[in-house]
Amino acid sequence: MKIVVCIKQVPGTTNVSIDPETKRLIREGVEIVMNPFDAYALEEGVLLCEKHGGEVTALSMGPKRAELTLREALAYGADRVILLNDRALGGSDTFATSYALSQAIRKIGDVDLVICGKQAIDGDTAQVGPGIAAHLGWPQAAYVSRLIKSDDSGLTVERMHEAGNDICIIKLPAVLTVLKDINTPRMPALKRRLASGKAEIPVWSASFIKADTAKTGLDGSPTRVVTTRKPAARDKHTVILNGSAAGSASELVKILKSRIKL
Ligand SMILES: Cc1cc2nc3c(=O)[nH]c(=O)nc-3n(C[C@H](O)[C@H](O)[C@H](O)COP(=O)(O)OP(=O)(O)OC[C@H]3O[C@@H](n4cnc5c(N)ncnc54)[C@H](O)[C@@H]3O)c2cc1C
Repeated sequence: MKIVVCIKQVPGTTNVSIDPETKRLIREGVEIVMNPFDAYALEEGVLLCEKHGGEVTALSMGPKRAELTLREALAYGADRVILLNDRALGGSDTFATSYALSQAIRKIGDVDLVICGKQAIDGDTAQVGPGIAAHLGWPQAAYVSRLIKSDDSGLTVERMHEAGNDICIIKLPAVLTVLKDINTPRMPALKRRLASGKAEIPVWSASFIKADTAKTGLDGSPTRVVTTRKPAARDKHTVILNGSAAGSASELVKILKSRIKL
């Protein structure tokens, strides 16, 4: 099986600020980590290749320092990694990001399965996985919690949604986005971690993947971030009710009533 796992590098902290000019997250000087959901996507790819043979390519679109995240992907089991890096891709929204990633997947060629994490913990849109499937014209299953059956022609998966679970039979090639329920990522072997530090990281440009730059970057993004603002910190004060259950209950009712603005 030829599997591509999409890996995003994200701020390793919630203490981030937004550039008032560009309205974009200030990433300089902020610790970066692999998007937590993508570790589960990577593990699922490695498990499938252990079962069916084949290779896992970890693909990331981002600034040069996303190489660190790709070295981690090598340590966790990826056979190959590719960094998609080009100024023409900077500031891409989810439509432009999924377009560029789909062009890179076409360039890799003969891919059977693309696995993404459910969502990225910074943009939080969960749109890139389904976006890649749309650009490639492939079937997709999002929020996959269990891979029930797999062979070269297709997969049977369980996916979660608000109203419960679905069992989906999906023909390959396809795109999945996965939840943390799907597996338990392994700890990287020391030998792999040491080797990942020396590995050559291929860097692909927009022209190398034949991406139409009118569809990438800020200019190619239909989404415009118009304003960004930090939500006002809520005035949180905690009340500890120590009395008897009945006493505390009536105390709680009094407090709640006092807060309801009629
Ligand atoms: C605070 C904030 C709000 C934003 N709001 C929007 C918005 O409303 N609309 C919009 O279009 N854009 C938005 N963006 C931009 C958006 O974050 C980027 O387009 C981003 O590249 C992809 O979207 P996401 O982070 O929501 O990823 P998601 O769609 O949540 O990511 C899902 C999965 O896709 C894969 N993936 C995502 N990005 C990459 C990547 N760069 N390389 C490899 N794999 C990847 C990973 O497997 C990831 O688990 C926002 C960015 C920020 C920081």
